[in-house]
Amino acid sequence: MLILMKADASKGDVEAVEKKIRELGFTPNDIPGATRLAIGITGNQGPVDAGIFTVMAGVADAVPVSKPWKLVSREVKPNDTFVKIGGAQIGGGRFGIIAGPCAVESREQVDEAAVAVKAAGAHFLRGGAFKPRTSPYAFQGMKEEGLKILAEARAKTGLPIVTEVMDTRDVELVGRYADVLQVGARNMQNFSLLEAVGGQPKAVMLKRGLSATINEFLMAAEYILKQGNYNVILCERGIRTFETMTRNTLDLGSIPLIKRLTHLPIIVDPSHGTGDRASVPALARAAVAMGADGLMIEVHPHPDKALSDGPQSLTPEAFAKLMESVRAIAAVVGLGI
Ligand code: PEP
Ligand code: MN
Repeated sequence: MLILMKADASKGDVEAVEKKIRELGFTPNDIPGATRLAIGITGNQGPVDAGIFTVMAGVADAVPVSKPWKLVSREVKPNDTFVKIGGAQIGGGRFGIIAGPCAVESREQVDEAAVAVKAAGAHFLRGGAFKPRTSPYAFQGMKEEGLKILAEARAKTGLPIVTEVMDTRDVELVGRYADVLQVGARNMQNFSLLEAVGGQPKAVMLKRGLSATINEFLMAAEYILKQGNYNVILCERGIRTFETMTRNTLDLGSIPLIKRLTHLPIIVDPSHGTGDRASVPALARAAVAMGADGLMIEVHPHPDKALSDGPQSLTPEAFAKLMESVRAIAAVVGLGI
């Protein structure tokens, strides 16, 4: 249930509504950025009687929320959420581009990538310092040393940093260096990690799980918002299907649906979505045309030498060329870039 307060509702009216919600054993959630003050009710198992609230002073309406996820729903917050860090923004009419290597490998590699993606027009720098690898024998990332390298690249280029956190024990550490904490596909339903990133102040980018339905994806985001963090970006990165010729099946059809269902921004990662650098530009262009709010693209100065995801990484030159067409398509669909 969503309680819409009148524009002239007093602080006392709002407090009385919140008190009533608590008395019923539920939780009141102030919805930020809404056009008028709204209070979302969570914690109820079945429907709540609207009449309890509509008779209260300052209440304009009490509307049932039909979806299983509440705080991420557009029913609860009709206006777009956007994540803004300095001059970089994703969502709310601005198309944001995150680019950089899959993994932080060295200071030189990150520097070269950061300078190149910035020159081509990227807004954020990515790079994993904690890497979720299928094989325990594969390169696992540079951990804190990698985070320091990313922070140095930010100091040099001004690009905010997006980097993955894999474990609740590292949330504080990664949050000290990163601007956006990435929760990877393999951790999409790591509920204690979702709660941990929801309870800290940095923005979060949540990637869709390898086999997650859209409903499960939005439920995972709900865990983060429930802890009070509304600075959440969703990322479609492909799902596992019967197809084996591509690394994943990039579900571009999810984009318009997710945009209708939730106020959260949704970006597309065509790199993991296909696994093949030759296909990345076409999928990236399609994502812009589909109405996504941004892109995450892997770019490596020397993809053939990459310690992870080389085959899907673009060279800086290919990325710069792609950015030209991304800008042109963004203009056609009315997005600022
Ligand atoms: C990544 O962004 O490098 C990554 C590991 O992505 P995903 O979690 O989508 O596989
Ligand atoms: Mn990768």
